Amino acid sequence: EQSVIIGREAVAAKRKQYFYPCTAHFYRDAPQLVRGSMQYVYDENGKEYTDFFAGVSVVACGHCNPAITSRTIAQLQQLQHTSPIYLTQPNVDLAERLEEVLPGALRRTFFVNSGSEANEGALLLARMHTGRKGFIALDAGLHGRTNLTMSVTGLQMWRTDAYLDEDVTFIKRPYHPELTLEEAAVQSIQNLKEVLAAQGDTIAAMIVEPIQGNGGIVMPALSYFREVKALLEQYGVLLIDDEIQTGYGRTGAMFAMEHFGVVPDIISMAKALGNGVPIAAFSTTDEIAASLNKPSASTFGGNPVSAATALAVLDYIRDERLAERAAELGGQLKQGLLDLQERYPALITDVRGSGLMLGAELAGTETEDAAAVTDYVLEELKDRGYLIGKNGIGRNVLAFQPPLVVTSGNIDALLDALHEVLQAIH
Ligand code: PMP
Repeated sequence: EQSVIIGREAVAAKRKQYFYPCTAHFYRDAPQLVRGSMQYVYDENGKEYTDFFAGVSVVACGHCNPAITSRTIAQLQQLQHTSPIYLTQPNVDLAERLEEVLPGALRRTFFVNSGSEANEGALLLARMHTGRKGFIALDAGLHGRTNLTMSVTGLQMWRTDAYLDEDVTFIKRPYHPELTLEEAAVQSIQNLKEVLAAQGDTIAAMIVEPIQGNGGIVMPALSYFREVKALLEQYGVLLIDDEIQTGYGRTGAMFAMEHFGVVPDIISMAKALGNGVPIAAFSTTDEIAASLNKPSASTFGGNPVSAATALAVLDYIRDERLAERAAELGGQLKQGLLDLQERYPALITDVRGSGLMLGAELAGTETEDAAAVTDYVLEELKDRGYLIGKNGIGRNVLAFQPPLVVTSGNIDALLDALHEVLQAIH
C-alpha cells in the first residue's frame, strides 16, 4: 500500500481535510516529493529537482546518503530503543564525538528530539544555573514552537500563543535595511546596555541565532557577539547560541559563532545533526551542567537509531570536509548572486550570509509587492527544477541552504535559471 502514489491533488486534499488549517506551504502547486538522492529530490511524476533548501538546512549530507542510511538501518536492525536507565553505546560515542567539535570547555551534552526541545532545555538550564527568570532575545529571531521558546521568538508570524512568557525583553537586532552592519551593531549594543543596566540582575540568559535564519539570513558585523558576550559577563548573564539552523559546517565553520570568535555558555543544535532523522541536543560546561540537579531524561532523546545516525553524520562532515566545501561553494554562489544584484539592482536589494546559508532580498515591482515577487521566483524556479526557500520579516528573502554535497555545476545551473526568471520579471 505504501508504494501507491496518489498524486499531489489527492495529497493536498487529504492535508486540507485532516491537518490543522494553519499548515504552512510555499507553493500554489506544491510537488509531491516521493524520493531523494543526495542533492536531488523527485516528485510523483519522476521530475527531478535540485534541492537548494534541504528542508531548511536539515539534509546537509544529502538525501538518503548511503554512507549514513546504511548505519541507520544497521542500528535499526540491531537495537532500536531502550529506556535511558540502561547503558547503550551510540549516545555516549556521539557525546564524545561532539566534545571534539564543541568550542571551549563545552563538553556535556543532553540529547532531545527537536530544536524547540533543545532550546527549551537550554533556557531552563540557564534559569536553574543563575536562579534568575528573565531572558533577552533579538528582534526577528526564531527559537521554536513550545511555550518558552515561542516566548523568546521575536518573529511575529511564529508567535501564535496568546499566553506567552512575559519575562522576555527583546532588543533591536544588529541589522537594519537603512544602516550599515556596523551602525546596526552599535544600535543593538546600545539597546542591550540599557536593558542590562535596568534589569541585568534578573536576566538568566540571552538567546541568539549567530546568523538569523527565518528572520532573513542576517549575519551581524563580526565584532558584534564579542561585545555582547563581554557585556553579558559583566552581569552574570549566560549566552545561549542557537545553532539549530547554522550548525555543522553549513556556514563554512563547524558552528557559526566561530566566525565571531566567541565561545557561548550553551549551544543548542538539531536539524543537520540527524540529516533528517530526529535528534537534537544542548551542550554546556561541567559547571553549568551541574545545575540541572534533578534526575532528568527524555524517552527518545539519544536513542540508538538517532545517535548512530548522528555519528555517521559527524563522520561524513569530517571525512568529506563539508565545512570547507560550504565555504568554497558558498563563495561561488554568493558571487553569482552579487553579479545578479549588479545586473538587477532594482530587484535584488541585498545579498548576505555565509557559506551555504545565503539570502537575496527582493524588492517589489510597479505592480507586485516584494512578497509576491518572491513567491513568483520560487514558483518559476520550481518549474525549472530548483527548490529554494524564502524567509524574512516581509517574506521577501530568497533563501539558499542546499545540501552541502551540492556541486559547482548545480550552482551555475541554478544561477542561470534565476537569471532567466529575473530577466522575465525585469
Ligand atoms: N531554532 C532555529 C534557529 C530554527 O530555525 C528552528 C526551526 N526552524 C528552531 C529553533 C525550532 O526547531 P524545531 O522545528 O526542530 O523544533
